[in-house]
Amino acid sequence: MALTKTSFMRGMQCPKMLWLDKHKPSLKVIPPEIQARLDAGNEFGDLAMGIFGPYEEMTIYLPGTTVPDKKAMLTRTQDAMARGVEVICEAAFSNYNNYCAADILRKTETGYDIYEVKNAPEISEQFIKDAGFQYYIITRCKVRIGRVFIVIHGSDEESPFVPVDVTAQAKGYYKWVNDHIWELNRRQKEPEEIVIEPGEQCLKPYECWYYGYCHGGKQTEERGDD
Ligand code: SF4
Repeated sequence: MALTKTSFMRGMQCPKMLWLDKHKPSLKVIPPEIQARLDAGNEFGDLAMGIFGPYEEMTIYLPGTTVPDKKAMLTRTQDAMARGVEVICEAAFSNYNNYCAADILRKTETGYDIYEVKNAPEISEQFIKDAGFQYYIITRCKVRIGRVFIVIHGSDEESPFVPVDVTAQAKGYYKWVNDHIWELNRRQKEPEEIVIEPGEQCLKPYECWYYGYCHGGKQTEERGDD
């Protein structure tokens, strides 16, 4: 595969991060609290699959691993769409090898709506960019998308899934994705390590897992004013 939603977003934060993910992933250090947040997000996402009733999940793992078998997921998704399945979870799409898996794809009278699930109390611009990436890939696969929602974690724990319509904003990122995806694909494949000076991008929008590597072993809590 070329770029996924996650790798695209990581490359937009810092192309070196994208390069390291591909060529030197063992240098990555994921803080335990971040890992815990990722795990909680996965759990919330799993529960959200049922918000519209019966659904089919497209996830398939490579044998003996928890690594998604993207090729098999693409085939399963095509089959589910051909059968007219109303709610497809982890629906996989690929365009020129760029890949995304939509948390929930819900059939409508004219096509499908996308639901991106986030275990967070409010919408952030980063979430809308994520949804915009999915909209980009899926529409390039000639699937007609009506509305785009982000499902956030509301305050009512009895009914925590709150869809927020971000259609206009997410669709507005189509050109932004197209303007950067090909260049990031190229940079990811560069044979030599990309040289980028550490800066603001090391902490925004997310703390980089290569912080220690690029800052000479210094961890974020020791970083002082740089
Ligand atoms: S620590 Fe900073 S410079 Fe290094 S890969 Fe991460 S974002 Fe890029």
